[in-house]
Amino acid sequence: MNKPAIDWRQRASSLSFDGRAFIGGQRVPAHGGETFDCVSPIDGRVLTQVARGRQADIDAAVGAARMAFDDGRWAHKPPAQRKRILQRFAERILAAKEELALLETLDMGKPVQHSLGVDVQSAARTIAWYAEAVDKVYDEVAPTPRNSLALITREPMGVIGAVVPWNYPMLMASWKLGPALAAGNSVVLKPSEKSPLSALRLAELALEAGLPEGVFNVVPGYGHEAGEALALHMDVDAIGFTGSTRVGRRMLEYAGRSNLKRVYNELGGKSAFVVFEDFADVQRAATTVAASMFFNQGESCNAPSRVFVHERLADEFVGIVAGEAPKYQPGDPLSGSAEMGAIVDDVQLRSVLGYIESGHGEGAAVVAGGKRARTDSGGYYVEPTVFDRVGNDMKIAREEIFGPVLSVIRFRTEDEAVRMANDSPYGLQASVWSDNINRAHRVARALRAGTVHVNQYDEDDITVPFGGYKQSGNGRDKSLHAFDKYTELKTTWVRIDPAQA
Ligand code: NAD
Repeated sequence: MNKPAIDWRQRASSLSFDGRAFIGGQRVPAHGGETFDCVSPIDGRVLTQVARGRQADIDAAVGAARMAFDDGRWAHKPPAQRKRILQRFAERILAAKEELALLETLDMGKPVQHSLGVDVQSAARTIAWYAEAVDKVYDEVAPTPRNSLALITREPMGVIGAVVPWNYPMLMASWKLGPALAAGNSVVLKPSEKSPLSALRLAELALEAGLPEGVFNVVPGYGHEAGEALALHMDVDAIGFTGSTRVGRRMLEYAGRSNLKRVYNELGGKSAFVVFEDFADVQRAATTVAASMFFNQGESCNAPSRVFVHERLADEFVGIVAGEAPKYQPGDPLSGSAEMGAIVDDVQLRSVLGYIESGHGEGAAVVAGGKRARTDSGGYYVEPTVFDRVGNDMKIAREEIFGPVLSVIRFRTEDEAVRMANDSPYGLQASVWSDNINRAHRVARALRAGTVHVNQYDEDDITVPFGGYKQSGNGRDKSLHAFDKYTELKTTWVRIDPAQA
């Protein structure tokens, strides 16, 4: 028998919110008692008040995290015990999946079935995957002469500050929490002021799962207040940051001005999607780019927002993409069937509409969308928009729009395509579409990006690293490589005396 569809609107009406910070295992208001409005982009309604964390709250959270680290209540637990607690944390996330999905959707506007099927599931899988790794990762013994022994071991760093964005709030948090906690660190998480609710709930679930008090703290607040205080803190050992390149630059400055804490930046993107004339299945390439671009309202760091198409295929390709775009017309994120939801807030809405204006102004041709949608809802929605005949030097091709706006750029030769694809300050992802195996490999090698896809786009798994070249950042989230960010490498030399005669 089919399960009855969930009435998300009805569930939302009975959901309760708690916007207080989570410090030392407890819900607490901000020190000064200040709060800010948590607004839902679905209809512009104020959902609740959220604690406006500042320096004093960050001091308290870092203090709790430091004490928890120093007394070994987490770091010194046998690995098998840490594994079991993190596994229970993942189980709790899944048990609360509908509540978490609703919080995520109400807070940042994505379709609720995506929050449920993608964000919650991937967050739980991330925590479970790192939990499994805890008692399976070994250290090293160096090949030294017989009179000595050199151990190369990984140790937790201490207190990790995690600062994350609003586009995948829970998932981005889990990409930091998974490896940082599995390695034995304590964490202070600063969620985006635009999407703090799911992170606060995650901290409660972790405590219920048995994570000791003080090991995982959440301080909501604005970037220039709570975020800056965390990144400047003298007792924070590393910052795991995901967000814009503009703020990533600041993170490096904060480290330079304070204790030279490690900074791992996962930043913006303007990913190139290159389709050659020898690729036969134009339909698949075109439908893939529409699906990848308009997923999450185009608010994805790896959205394939610059499409380079060989001029021989371009008319056919653009025709298919323009025909696909209306399928992603925004709808009510709580309907359970909308393919696209709301843009996160009015600031982002105005920014996206400004880029569309700029595309018109610079002479690109709009072939789908281009306008605000669902204005009667009181929320913030934009039509899936496709620009053709874009120049790689236009603003819409150079800057990250972070909204449902796709630019198509036509090319004639392979060299020209590679040169233009690489002519960007960003280097997060790229893809090449070609039925010629030599060309596919040649171009995949030439593209300067942390991930390159060949003849597909959205393959993704926790087992592989995710991160960028150039101004898309330096660290890598996901996979065992993420442990490098949250551990120190220690060498221990031991002298071994020869046997006494
Ligand atoms: P943002 O840089 O504005 O904010 C990110 C976080 O930094 C938020 O928590 C914010 O409060 C905080 N912050 C803002 N100003 C700060 C300051 N002065 N000091 C300290 N903290 C500060 O980014 P956003 O708008 O939330 O997110 C969108 C960006 O995130 C896009 O550029 C997107 O590409 C990027 N992103 C990258 C990845 C990746 O893995 N590379 C993943 C998702 C999103």
